[in-house]
Amino acid sequence: MIPTTEPIGIYLHLPFCRRKCQYCDFLSFGGWRGVPDGYVDTLLGEVQLWGSYFADSNATVASVYFGGGTPSLAEPRQVERLMTALRSAAAFGLSCETTLEANPDSIDENRVAGWMAAGVNRLSIGIQSLDDPTLRRLGRLHDASRALQACTEARRAGIGNVSVDLMYGLPGTDSGTELLTLQRVLEEIHPDHVSWYNLTPAQGTPLWVSLEEGRLSLPEDDAAADLMNLGWRMLEEHGYEHYEISSFALPGRESQHNLGYWQYRDYVGLGLGASGFVAGRRWTNARRLGSYQDAVAAGNLPVESEERLPARRRQGEYAMLCMRMPILGLQFDQFRRLFGVDAQASFGVVFEQLVAEGLLVMLPDRAICSRRGLELNNVVARAFIDASMDDDPGTLAGDGVTSYRADARR
Ligand code: SF4
Repeated sequence: MIPTTEPIGIYLHLPFCRRKCQYCDFLSFGGWRGVPDGYVDTLLGEVQLWGSYFADSNATVASVYFGGGTPSLAEPRQVERLMTALRSAAAFGLSCETTLEANPDSIDENRVAGWMAAGVNRLSIGIQSLDDPTLRRLGRLHDASRALQACTEARRAGIGNVSVDLMYGLPGTDSGTELLTLQRVLEEIHPDHVSWYNLTPAQGTPLWVSLEEGRLSLPEDDAAADLMNLGWRMLEEHGYEHYEISSFALPGRESQHNLGYWQYRDYVGLGLGASGFVAGRRWTNARRLGSYQDAVAAGNLPVESEERLPARRRQGEYAMLCMRMPILGLQFDQFRRLFGVDAQASFGVVFEQLVAEGLLVMLPDRAICSRRGLELNNVVARAFIDASMDDDPGTLAGDGVTSYRADARR
């Protein structure tokens, strides 16, 4: 058993898409019109396997996240089945944030109303761009007018919390087009939350091949950095708080689920290839559908790999994640609570070095990135990771996922 008194998150992976996008290397399969009921059955079986953990620990579910894949291919009745099973297995917090990732081509008013009746209270919509040629190059199924219509229908259904994903640094566009998309989204959709992130073409994807063969090109690094900054400024001018390097929220609309990841809170990952993190241990489920389903059918958690980072490495990883959050930063009391040592004792030299380079600001209760530190976040992250690789094999107290897995088999 793995006791926790903290709020936890639950992630459910639905790896089915209508068509694979040109840049996508997520664990997802194209060619599906919906989520197979058999997959939902397996997820329900996995929820049951976690039953004794949920029952025996004091965990309160603070967030549920349906990610993918394209979770908006799931029928409301399927989301309802999953939410009912989760609610009967675990204690839910009163204001549990429940997000469903959605693509514009599978959103309509009735579907959104159905998901809401099942408990979804936040939609994260993958718009990416409002430029039709760009959307086609990316292999997205929607066009700009469908994206705007989907948001209108979602609002009409009454969903109160809408997040929108937008990419910059896209092939074949110019900065004006990408900033115009951002401006239109802010002024026509009024999302509660925006993820503004740089396209990073994964090796082996069709888009990566086109770039390698010179049929498409990406903006230079400097141009992409300018776009990032111009986007940041526009979002701030529209009243959005820059609370994570790629994430902007109206006050009170930060993603509770993602904040949990960045603040090292426990989460249980369910579904094909899903990762989880409980009591300092991280695990990943089987990535092959057959292996995943066979394990659950046999009454075993479908864990494929599990790691337990040494204590010092966990400190470095935690610091790196905190440095993504320009408002919360690395809070000294939280660091002490998590690791039992002072952040100054662990990273005093790194703090000094980064402050001297103008990348970090020390406040009485926390360390936060300067604007420059956010722009060069990979440099800041590397400093903490390098410092955490130096020593200390570390150990963790208590039982882990593996021992829990033994319980689950019984
Ligand atoms: S919809 Fe998302 S998960 Fe599916 S192929 Fe496109 S980028 Fe990948």
